[in-house]
Order: sequence, then structure tokens, then C-alpha cells
Amino acid sequence: MSTAQSDALTFECETGNYHTFCPISCVSWLYQKIEDSFFLVIGTKTCGYFLQNAMGVMIFAEPRYAMAELEEGDISAKLNDYGELRRLCLQIKKDRNPSVIFWIGTCTTEIIKMDLEGIAPKLEAEIRVPIVVARANGLDYAFTQGEDTVLAAMAQRCPLNLKNQSDNTSLKTSPHIPLVLFGSLPDPVVTQLTMELKKQGIFVSGWLPSKRYTELPVIKEGYYVAGVNPFLSRTATTLMRRRKTKLIGAPFPIGPDGTRAWIEKICSVMNVKPIGLEDREKAIWASLEDYISLIRGKSVFFMGDNLLEVSLARFLTRCGMTVYEIGIPYMDKRYQAAELALLKATCDKMNVMMPTIVEKPDNYNQVDRIRDLKPDLVITGMAHANPLEARGINTKWSVEFTFAQIHGFTNARDILELVTRPLRRNLSLSELGWDVYSKQS
Ligand code: SF4
Repeated sequence: MSTAQSDALTFECETGNYHTFCPISCVSWLYQKIEDSFFLVIGTKTCGYFLQNAMGVMIFAEPRYAMAELEEGDISAKLNDYGELRRLCLQIKKDRNPSVIFWIGTCTTEIIKMDLEGIAPKLEAEIRVPIVVARANGLDYAFTQGEDTVLAAMAQRCPLNLKNQSDNTSLKTSPHIPLVLFGSLPDPVVTQLTMELKKQGIFVSGWLPSKRYTELPVIKEGYYVAGVNPFLSRTATTLMRRRKTKLIGAPFPIGPDGTRAWIEKICSVMNVKPIGLEDREKAIWASLEDYISLIRGKSVFFMGDNLLEVSLARFLTRCGMTVYEIGIPYMDKRYQAAELALLKATCDKMNVMMPTIVEKPDNYNQVDRIRDLKPDLVITGMAHANPLEARGINTKWSVEFTFAQIHGFTNARDILELVTRPLRRNLSLSELGWDVYSKQS
């Protein structure tokens, strides 16, 4: 190991030959979050097959998403794009009556250069339903970045003033410059984080996205904004450049350490002295001890596919694990600066080596490195999970971290529940004497 690696974070970049979900998968959680929305994915059967399989049982629950499947005639421009989309959107309006239709651009619409941004405003005026265009395609982005493209497009639609005067007074009575948080989280987690800040005397004036499109928060010049997820760098940039807001760059509220750092940073910007945070963090760590004792001293390898890797690695390092490698699809060093600094501080504190951060990893090379390093746990996609298990390597399916509730103090337990599951399973299998399936033998 080089000396550079022991006292600074090392960044590498490989070929980008890795498995991840296509960013159009964001429709699966965003249509649930934004209750009055409809998502129209304009692509091919490839995209349709992917969504149909990745969403699992959800596809039987009449989801508010659909594919606009392109035909030969669309590709060769024999059909009229405007006319075709108009027909579909009118049908959606008639059947579902949504408050907004999202058009999700795909690889094909990019390659044939379909002018979605040009068509949308005309059609929007004609059918009188807002149409928001997001290019969440597999050419440019990975998995969770799909949400980033949608939120960046939505940020431009946030109102500048409230229609309702009573809401206006509540904004005016706020003791500090209004704060808007961005990132799509399940409603219970939204409430938890809002309450955590309220305890410190900080009022969240809105969330992007809100529960309904019609309730998007007011965002004015000079407002503060803070992200809750590490993959929202485009949204952050849009909020700063287009809406002239001030971004609070903090570590992300994942794990008790991250949550405390996140609240503390927001407090410091708002000139509020945080109360009771240290004790709160201590109490949470103490309550996690039964899980932490299972992973302390063990090693973990992130193959990288959802951009949550740095935050999770930082939390697991704090739990006493050694992180060998953090694979990550895309690394925005500016947006993640505070998170990277906390990772470094955590490694120093726990006296473990700094992990290598591998941007655009090459799964083939990674499997080689896994063979050499023999980590106790590999966090990876479904493509590699079973083959690695069969070779005696414990794995955890990475996609679950995206859908589980992992933010805030109280959900730290859920992260560890996921991380320790393969290790606990091995313990119980060896108790049953099934050592053939278990690495513990
Ligand atoms: S990578 Fe492109 S073609 Fe494949 S599912 Fe995603 S948008 Fe569709």
C-alpha cells in the first residue's frame, strides 16, 4: 500500500464496465412518492422489459407509469412525434386525471434526437396538464441519478410565491431564512427528519419533491437548501444556479454519525446551537451494539452501483469495519465534499486504512480483487451475488439500501439489519449443521 493511500483518500477511475439499474427505475419510487403524478417512459421494449422485471409485484398494482413504446415509424420519422404523444397524453388525462405528466427520455429518444423539451410546452398548453421532461437514460446516468434528473427538472417548476396567504404568514414567522430540503424519502422518514430539525428550532419550509405536485414548495432567491441523498448533485446545481438558493454542504443523514453531522451543519449555518445531539448519538450507538458486535473487525467491499456507497462506507467504518474498496458510478467531489471529509475523519478516528474510491468501476477487475482480498462481505448487485456466494463470499444485495428506510437516527438499525443479514444467516445455517452452504465451516 502506498503512503499516499494511508493519509489521503485515493480516487481511481476504471472502464465503467459495471452492473447497475437503468435510471428509468426511478419511476418506481417517484410515482409512489408524488401521489398525483403519472410517468410516461418514452422508449423501447428493452426499457419496458427492464421496468416490468425490476419492479416485481408492483406491476400488478396498476402503477401510475406506462411505456410509450416507439415503433419503426417513430424511429424513421414517418410518424409525427407531437401527434403520437398528444394521443397518449390525452388518454392518460382521461383515464387517470393526473396533476402532472413526467416524460422520461431514454437512450432511444437521445439517439434519434427526439425533441421532448421542445414538444412538451406546446402540448402542455394544449391539454392543460403540466408536462415535465427528464432525460433519465442509460447513456448518461446510473440508477439513482434518475431521481436527480427528475428533481432537477421539477426544481424549475417550484412556485416563487404562495397562492394562499395563510401559508405566507407561516413562512414570514420562521425565525430564520427559509430552508427547503431536497430528496425523495418515504413520508415517515420525511416526518422524522423534519421533527429532528424542529427540536433544534429549525423549521423546514418545504420538501422537493412534496407529496403532491400541486404542493411543490416555494423556492426564492436567497433560500437555503440541503440535500438528504448523495446522488442529487444536478438538483443541487439547478437550485443554486437557476433558483439562486444557497446550498448547505453537509454529510448525509445516514447512520447516527451522518445524521448528527447533517443536523449540526444546518444548525451552524442557521446560527443555532444544537442541543442534546451528542447524547442522542451516543444512545443510538449503544442501542446498536448487538448488531455492531457481529461486524466489528470484519471487512467489506462495495462494488458500487447506487451512489450511496460513500455514506454507507463511512457509517460501516464507524461501526468498526474495514472498507477495502468503494466502487461508485459517479463521484461529484464538490457535492459530496463534506461526506468525503467525514469519511476521512472517521478512518483517522477508527485508525483504519483509507479505502480506495473507484469511480466507474470495472466489475471484471473487481471480481479479481475480491478473489485476492477475500472480504467478509461484498455489497453488490444481483448479477454477482449468487456466483460470489457459490464461491464462499458473503454478499448483500445493494439495491435494498435504496428502497429501505436508512435515513435519520432511528433508521440506523435498519441499515445494520441489512448488512448483518448474510452473516446472521450463516451463523444459523452452521447451527443447523448445513456447513456446505455456509462459509462459517
Ligand atoms: S439503458 Fe436505455 S434502453 Fe436500456 S432500459 Fe435504460 S433507457 Fe432503456
